[in-house]
Amino acid sequence: MPPKHQNEDSLIREIASRCRPVLDPANWHSVALGIGDDAALFRARSGCENILTCDWFLEGTHFLRNKHPPDSVGWKCLARALSDVAAMGGTPRCFLLSLALPEKLIDRWLHLFLGGLRRASHKFQCSLAGGDTTRQSKILINMTIVGDVPTGHAVTRSGARAGDILYVSGRLGEAELGLQIVRRSAGPAHKGNPSRRKHLYPEPRLALGQWLSKRRLATAMMDVSDGLSTDLPRLCAASSVGARIEEARIPQVGTSDLVIKHGRNPMQLALHGGDDYELLFTVPPRKAKLLPKTFQGVGLTAIGKITRERKLLLVDENGHATHILSGGWDPFRKKTGRHAKFSAHRRGAKALAS
Ligand code: ADP
Ligand code: MG
Repeated sequence: MPPKHQNEDSLIREIASRCRPVLDPANWHSVALGIGDDAALFRARSGCENILTCDWFLEGTHFLRNKHPPDSVGWKCLARALSDVAAMGGTPRCFLLSLALPEKLIDRWLHLFLGGLRRASHKFQCSLAGGDTTRQSKILINMTIVGDVPTGHAVTRSGARAGDILYVSGRLGEAELGLQIVRRSAGPAHKGNPSRRKHLYPEPRLALGQWLSKRRLATAMMDVSDGLSTDLPRLCAASSVGARIEEARIPQVGTSDLVIKHGRNPMQLALHGGDDYELLFTVPPRKAKLLPKTFQGVGLTAIGKITRERKLLLVDENGHATHILSGGWDPFRKKTGRHAKFSAHRRGAKALAS
């Protein structure tokens, strides 16, 4: 039974006791002083640069209280924030949790939320170091993550060079399909559906990011959280290059009954679907042979090439090239021109932000 909270201190006590710090494999604590004082003390590792990132996870924008299980909200708010650490080639160290909750959720909902958060914290070896808690009519979550990476090894978005091969991990569009399943509550038959699972319980590609950075294989890297058509232009702009990707190579979900039922097309899902938290990275051709086909069970697929010409082209099976138009998630995008079509489609499906 979840405890009944009468005040903020008892709530914080539950948070602290459910999310005890993780002792990392080197038997080494990055959190020298955790919850309970005015602030936490973080022990940085010598020879490393610290990685700092924060991420909102908001009811109504990123998840729905009546559709997303609290356990998944707890897991996902940490997992998706850690994806940015993975994308730098880093290792998570600790996190701060800023949480605003309606009063009626401080018992059962919070208890279940902390269960998911604790599992993610242990799985990804990242300790809760502190946070802030307050009351609000909607659930607002902000995660601040501290990670680290050996000095000089961080993989940025800006290192891609013409001729580099563009890779992506996993399958794209899977989480967006999972969102459709969750939204339409396709029933218990879909409980074990892998797309639903990927949407509710994403896994940041931490080991892959660290491996690429350690071996200095990737010249540029980022995570795909807003959809390939939105994120690839960001990597290319940061590197002052263009890209040519081959439609047939993009790893995507199969044309299952479910995809048809939800009125989606696997290529559209792969190009514009958000929330996948896969890694998009570039490798010089001479190093490409060092990349395995899969890394810890996750596929690594070459989807195209970086070009000097600063255009983003999608080439179909007949060699016909079209410009890639951003159609992924952007909370501030104006719905004009050709974007309107997909945005309208997304609005029709009431897609959530990533
Ligand atoms: P103050 O009022 O001085 O900001 P708080 O009462 O907010 O102090 O916090 C007391 C302690 O509880 C701090 O160590 C803080 O990091 C921790 N804390 C508060 N809210 C959370 C939370 N949501 N998750 C983790 N730790 C929290
Ligand atoms: Mg405070």
